Order: sequence, then structure tokens, then C-alpha cells
Amino acid sequence: MSRWHERLHEAARQRAAQAAQRALHTVQRRDGARVWVAGRELIDFAGNDYLGLASDPRLSRALRDAAARGVGASASHLVSGHHAAHAELEQALARWFDAPRALLLGSGYAGNLAVLQGLLGRADRCVQDRLNHASLIDGARLAACTLHRYPHADAEAAERQLARGSGRGLSLLASDGVFSMDGDVAPLPALAAACARHDALFYVDEAHALGVLGARGAGSVAAAGLGTTQVPLRLCTFGKALGCYGAALVGDGAVIEHLLQTARPYIYTTALPPALADVAHAAVLLAQGADAERARLQQNIARLRSGAAQLGLPLMASSTPIQPLLVGDNAGTLALADALRARGFWVGAIRPPTVPPGHARLRITLSAAHRSADIDALLAALAHIVVGASNAH
Ligand SMILES: *Cc1c(COP(=O)(O)O)cnc(C)c1O
Repeated sequence: MSRWHERLHEAARQRAAQAAQRALHTVQRRDGARVWVAGRELIDFAGNDYLGLASDPRLSRALRDAAARGVGASASHLVSGHHAAHAELEQALARWFDAPRALLLGSGYAGNLAVLQGLLGRADRCVQDRLNHASLIDGARLAACTLHRYPHADAEAAERQLARGSGRGLSLLASDGVFSMDGDVAPLPALAAACARHDALFYVDEAHALGVLGARGAGSVAAAGLGTTQVPLRLCTFGKALGCYGAALVGDGAVIEHLLQTARPYIYTTALPPALADVAHAAVLLAQGADAERARLQQNIARLRSGAAQLGLPLMASSTPIQPLLVGDNAGTLALADALRARGFWVGAIRPPTVPPGHARLRITLSAAHRSADIDALLAALAHIVVGASNAH
């Protein structure tokens, strides 16, 4: 083991030198946007609980009722683990997305691996936005296809990459609908048109758009006026606005059937506990009806952005609950996050490799569970820490 210890020690030393080390903070309790960590109450501006459902008592009740009928699925879906709770959730999701069919996956991460590995082979091409989620990059690796990454949100560059793919293989274009670390929305109509011109399958990851964008929270594709015809496959994850865990692919019937037959991250894993499928189903119904929470969320976004503008804080261009403040260097980002934490605010310090080198940032996320006073208090802390510090220079 001694050479292993040397390697691990050296890697840890480099992480520390670059302020790239990460730390776990254990949440003892959560209530809406309030969390208790190491005995202290913090206001959470780091999570993805956009509608405040993660600690909603209606979901806790749904989990308790579902768990009374048993917990585990006992097998993978295709062996003997596909329960009525799974089938009903798939139907509810297909209805929400106005798509023929849905397929449950253990997580969004597994879902992205499933799509790319199940659909693409060595001769095929995967064209992706440079800022797509890491799971989409990993999926392309698992597929062993060629991966082409176009400059962020540049539909013309995407089209040029699609146009070059005139071999015997096929092309799939994958994009986040809302970008997880930037908060901006992909140029979906332009990307869909490019895919149509080049016979490429368009796949959109709705992780941060589900429940937030579109009528009844149906996501970024619906908000752009598109549907299954233009976007034959979408990923929805249950861990963000739905406040649960798990994921599903929703779309064209032939595409879904092919994934069910071939996607290893679907086939070789135990099905989601049926009790969790029941809770996710309850969350789907709550999220569809959460227009008041979506309105509240929009008010919170507007309040943060106007307050930041008054302070001269350059939030990145985003109209979604993800409101990053670009800092640049790792150590500076970490210091700001620590200073905010000392004042009772939990904000993510996002550093490479999650974002490109030199683009470290505070990732401020908003929820319908935040009160106006929470936003104002965060702004006051930022004024003191960020604006105060730069005026002192
Ligand atoms: C969080 C996230 C995932 C992964 O989903 P999990 O259910 O948490 O595994 C996939 N894609 C994007 C864009 C995400 O933000």
C-alpha cells in the first residue's frame, strides 16, 4: 500500500494547494429553507429544493403510508421488481410531458448513462453543450461514441458539428434545459431545428427545469413550445424540485422501448423502492399544481436580482432559481462561502472540475420556501462581505 498512500497523499496536497478540497457538512434537520448543521441554524441557498417540497409534510405522509406496504422492490424491473407504483408513476409522468411513454431510473446520473449507452455505439456521434452536466459526459464515455462539445449555448456551432457527421453512424444532440451551474436556459428551438435538419435525436435533461419552467411546471421543452416531436427524449429527475429521489426518461415509445431492452444502467440495477415511487408520484401531482409556489419563486428571483443590481453585485445572466455570482479563483470563492456561513447562510462554493478553471463561483439557489426577509438578509450579508471588502481595497 505504500505507493498508494504516496499517491493519495500527493493528490490531497495538490487539492489543498489549489483550494479544491471539498468537505461534507452534515444536515441534522431541514424545515423548508432552514437547515441545522453542527447545531447551528442556516438559511439554505445551496440546495435544489425549488418548490420547497423536500420537507413538505404531505410528502412525509405519502412516504409513511407507502412504506406500510413494504419498502424494497426486491429485483430489477425486468426480473420481478416492476411494481404497480412504478407503472402508475410512469403513466403520470408521460401525461405530464404529453409523451407516449416513460421509464424509471434509479437516479438522473444513471438516466444519462442509460440514454447515451443504450442509443449510441462506436460509429455514432454525441454532440453536447460544453457546460452539460458531468453525467452526460460520462454517458458518452460509456457509449464509446465520439463526443463533440460545442461552445456554450451556441446553436450554430452545434449545427456545424452535426453537419460534419455524414458517416454510417447516427447523431444525438444532448443539452441541459437549464444549466446546473449557470442557471441559463438552452436555445432549445434553434437546437431542435438543427437536429431536424440533420436527422439527429434531440435529448434534453430537465433536471433543473422540471417543476420550475413551463405551464404546470412541465419543464424547459414545454416552456419553449416544443414537445416529443422535436425532442423525442427528456430526462426528469425527482431529487430537485420534486424533493424526492429517482428519475425517469420520458418520450417517444420506440426510443423508450429500445432503452428498456438495452440500457445497462436500467437493466442491471434494483428498481427504485416502490414506496419512493409512490412519494415521487405524490410530488408530481403537487408540483403540477404548485402555481402559487412558482409565482413566489419568481418573486424571490426578482427580489434577489434587483437587490444585487443596487449593490453592484454582478450576478450572472439567469432568470431561473440558479443565480451564480462569478468570483474566479477557488480560494476567494471558498472564503466568501465561509464568511456567509459564519453569518448564517449556506451558499455553494462551486469550483473546478464542476466548472471550468478560473470560473469558480458562489452558486446561490432560490426556493419558494425562502421568505422575502431571507433574501434581504442574504443581500445585506453580501453587501457587507463582498461590497464592503472591495471598497476597503
Ligand atoms: C442533478 C443532475 C443530474 C443527476 O440527477 P440525480 O438524480 O441527482 O442523479 C443530471 N443532470 C443534471 C443537469 C443535474 O443537475
